[in-house]
Amino acid sequence: MRKPIQDEFTGLAVSRQRKYQLRMQRDRRCTECGEPAAQGSRCLRHLIKARERQRTKRGLKRRYYGTLSYKLESKGKP
Ligand SMILES: [Zn+2]
Repeated sequence: MRKPIQDEFTGLAVSRQRKYQLRMQRDRRCTECGEPAAQGSRCLRHLIKARERQRTKRGLKRRYYGTLSYKLESKGKP
C-alpha cells in the first residue's frame, strides 16, 4: 500500500475531501480540479460554475459585473 501523505493536515478531524481542498488552497490551486487557480480559490472554469450554481440556488437576478469571475471571463477564455 502507498504511504499516506504526511503534512500539516494529516491529523485533522475533517473529511478527506476537506483535506484535499486545504492542500489545494495551500498550493494555490483550484479546490475542485487541482488546476492552477486564477485568483482566489478556484480556476476560472470553476469560478464561473460556482457563481452560476449560487445564482440558481439563491434565485438571484442581478449580475455584479465588477466581480472577479466576470472580469477574468471577459479578458480570457473560460
Ligand atoms: Zn477548477
